[in-house]
Amino acid sequence: MASRTEEIRRENLIRLLLKLFKGDATRGELKASLRVGTSTLSYLVAELREQGMVEERKRLYRVGRPSQVIGLQEDAWNVIGIKMGREGVSGVRFNARGQKMESFVRPILSHMRSNKGYTEALRDVLLYFKTHERKTPLLGIGVCSSGTVDSHRGEIVHSPVMNVEHLGVQQIATEIFGEIPILVTNDVDSLGAFEAFLNPRKDTLLISYGIGIGASYIHRGRVFHPVRGLSSFEIGHMVVANDGNCYCGQVGCLEYHASEYAILRRYQGLRESFRDFVEREEELFKDKLLELRKRARDPDHRLLRAYEEAFQYLALVVGNLVVLLKPARVVLFGEGIVGDWMADLLYKRITERFAPLMVGDFTLEVEHRIRLWEEGAAFAALLKFLPAFVASRREKQRGSA
Ligand SMILES: [Zn+2]
Repeated sequence: MASRTEEIRRENLIRLLLKLFKGDATRGELKASLRVGTSTLSYLVAELREQGMVEERKRLYRVGRPSQVIGLQEDAWNVIGIKMGREGVSGVRFNARGQKMESFVRPILSHMRSNKGYTEALRDVLLYFKTHERKTPLLGIGVCSSGTVDSHRGEIVHSPVMNVEHLGVQQIATEIFGEIPILVTNDVDSLGAFEAFLNPRKDTLLISYGIGIGASYIHRGRVFHPVRGLSSFEIGHMVVANDGNCYCGQVGCLEYHASEYAILRRYQGLRESFRDFVEREEELFKDKLLELRKRARDPDHRLLRAYEEAFQYLALVVGNLVVLLKPARVVLFGEGIVGDWMADLLYKRITERFAPLMVGDFTLEVEHRIRLWEEGAAFAALLKFLPAFVASRREKQRGSA
């Protein structure tokens, strides 16, 4: 049984590693961040150094004593992040400093959008990484996917856009990798985990916008999850109108009325049903979509009108969520967000529709820095599995001592 002191020590080691994951830091910065004294910090750093997890990156000379800058050692571990989406299954291996080591993609064409097609593609991606194993220890694998995901069972419950139901991702990965820790999450939630890590003090509603519309809610520094382990905030298929056949089978979904499909429909007079569009977009509409995103950076009057209409629906859902959750920030990101004017427009639409005291004080921002989905998936796995990894390393160390 680990004593209380042991437990505190292990927690401190994990906090230290996570702090360094944000970037290299001087001993002084680490002491302040962990709120520990000089001798405790020396002890912690020495232990991680012995295990090959941290190293001195450089030494700063200034007035007074020189200070040591500590950083993670890039080969302390590696993590694989995999994104499963409409267009492909894509994996990236990251080193302990969060840098990309290698990647492998299996594109998905329309006829492959089924449990069988995705199972094969996921197996291919996993097998690539299995056959390219590194000397550094694999800390875990994170898989993120669009749709409703059950993290407890490790399965994609339902992703209409991928045409997948009850896909046992964890089982497929275990068949190939054995007993490696695997985390399966919703894609927006995996980026939410990253955002929560970087910015834990503000409750934040993340909205991803493109052909699909998704969301994640960061509450008290963590991504909100129901006890059942399901991902929530599948806002793309919240019903906002009494018309509009969505590819998911429902009528009046937010995605039908507010996504980029809705913009193309209004702006380019697109006649295809949403189902046809989603199933064949890659092959037929990719150019139109790219053209749209280019024009939307500086939209003409008619294009702006299309967004104004679409964002009325988006404003209903986001506004209702703001009334409900009272986030301090709403952050818009994704392939379809190509200008700051989009945040202005959405904010305007929300404040037109809701009374000031109803929605309260919140900021609406556009996130320009594009974080890879794979990075989010890998980070969510790192966050979840680092404690077990540290514990096992310490045991090994003791066993050999
Ligand atoms: Zn729908």
